[in-house]
Amino acid sequence: MAAQDARDVAAAVKFARRHKLRLVVKGGGHSYHGASNAPDSLLVWTRKMNAVGMHEAFVGQGCPPESAQAAVSVGAGAMWADAYSAVTTRGGRYVQGGGCTTVGVAGLVQGGGFGSFSKRFGTAAANLIEAEVVTADGEVRIANAVTNPDLFWALKGGGGGSFGVVTRLTLRTHPLPAFFGAVFGEITAATPEAWRALVARFVDFYATSLFNEHWGETVSLREGKRLKLSMVFQGLDRAQAQAVWAPFFAWVRERKEYSVKEPTVMAVPAREFWNPRFFAQHAPGIMTMDGGAQASPDRFFWTGDGEQAGWFIHGYQSAWLPAKLLHAEGQALLVEALCAAAAQWDFELHFNKGLAGGAREALAATGNTSMNPAVLDAFALAIIAGGSGPAYPGLLEKPRDEERAHGARRPRSEARWTRC
Ligand SMILES: Cc1cc2nc3c(=O)[nH]c(=O)nc-3n(C[C@H](O)[C@H](O)[C@H](O)COP(=O)(O)OP(=O)(O)OC[C@H]3O[C@@H](n4cnc5c(N)ncnc54)[C@H](O)[C@@H]3O)c2cc1C
Repeated sequence: MAAQDARDVAAAVKFARRHKLRLVVKGGGHSYHGASNAPDSLLVWTRKMNAVGMHEAFVGQGCPPESAQAAVSVGAGAMWADAYSAVTTRGGRYVQGGGCTTVGVAGLVQGGGFGSFSKRFGTAAANLIEAEVVTADGEVRIANAVTNPDLFWALKGGGGGSFGVVTRLTLRTHPLPAFFGAVFGEITAATPEAWRALVARFVDFYATSLFNEHWGETVSLREGKRLKLSMVFQGLDRAQAQAVWAPFFAWVRERKEYSVKEPTVMAVPAREFWNPRFFAQHAPGIMTMDGGAQASPDRFFWTGDGEQAGWFIHGYQSAWLPAKLLHAEGQALLVEALCAAAAQWDFELHFNKGLAGGAREALAATGNTSMNPAVLDAFALAIIAGGSGPAYPGLLEKPRDEERAHGARRPRSEARWTRC
């Protein structure tokens, strides 16, 4: 059922109750677990409810006038591309969402939700001010810090599809920094000793220079003693970002046991960061437009995210790494663990998915959500995963290998990675 508004959703909930049907909700459809569909269910699809409206001074229902703040209200069916276009490209403000533009706003916020700049702005859930939600009795309710506060707290990270059908979300907006940017590079070590020294140098560099609100995203430890850097920054310009990294790259270049792919440091005016027209002109190919017949001209995805469409995940594990591992006495242990793990399988450290080192307001707001509080003490999320290419009709690259998928040892070159 393609709902148009909260009344449609309420009617669907009441119908499902009356007929004892399982009800599932689908937003962006990006659940890794397939939680937004189920056999023999009534599926409520929110896609058409994708209006986005900005507020200069939003006051939640029942909240005091002095709580007024800049905000955006987003229909539950919107994708992050819709929100970023309205809030940043057209509105000149920032809203905390996810890195992947095709993820649904409602699913991501209810799951906690990290974006590249979460160390500065907190999780998406931490930025929720108010939700309109249809509860299991079929009533349309408002949830915020004052009205239905328990429901509000649960929605901030308690998991999509658990506490009701959200029909609209209102999220805090922030002033935009001047620039967003990225640092890409890859360093290969010639020997196991050089590899260990490189990992130790990077860990120390991270602890002293990157463990702050400016830096997020990913470093991968790869087969062949390769350290792949895909970091992003906010609140610095290109020259400042280059200066941060200069001592690290100087250390690497001074040693003949490393080969370095020339690192790239780039920055774009923050307002253009989600603007397909800007990238079409300055970096064609980095974004792919949604080619659907009724697609809005604002809908795009990062081309690098495309390989995740339909991929088949064999295994996926993650662990938060506590910030005490960055202290002098913890670093040796961390380096030991990273080298031991990298000897088995490629893996990634996602620094924006642990909030330690982040801005005080980001930590305070994220602490006031239903997410596991370990997120506050972690400096990164370590992700290790294995999978193979698209495995669905129409997306098929090659038939899925059941034997391999069920545990037979596979060459590590088949490992696939997610940046999201
Ligand atoms: C390619 C990809 C990229 C990703 N990138 C990121 C990222 O950058 N950061 C991050 O934190 N996570 C990321 N994720 C994880 C993503 O945030 C979660 O999978 C999220 O739950 C997806 O939301 P959705 O609306 O797109 O998915 P759906 O599959 O539609 O929904 C996910 C869950 O939320 C429920 N739900 C959806 N809408 C509603 C609603 N209106 N009311 C109540 N329940 C609802 C569904 O029933 C389901 O249980 C990514 C996932 C993928 C596949």
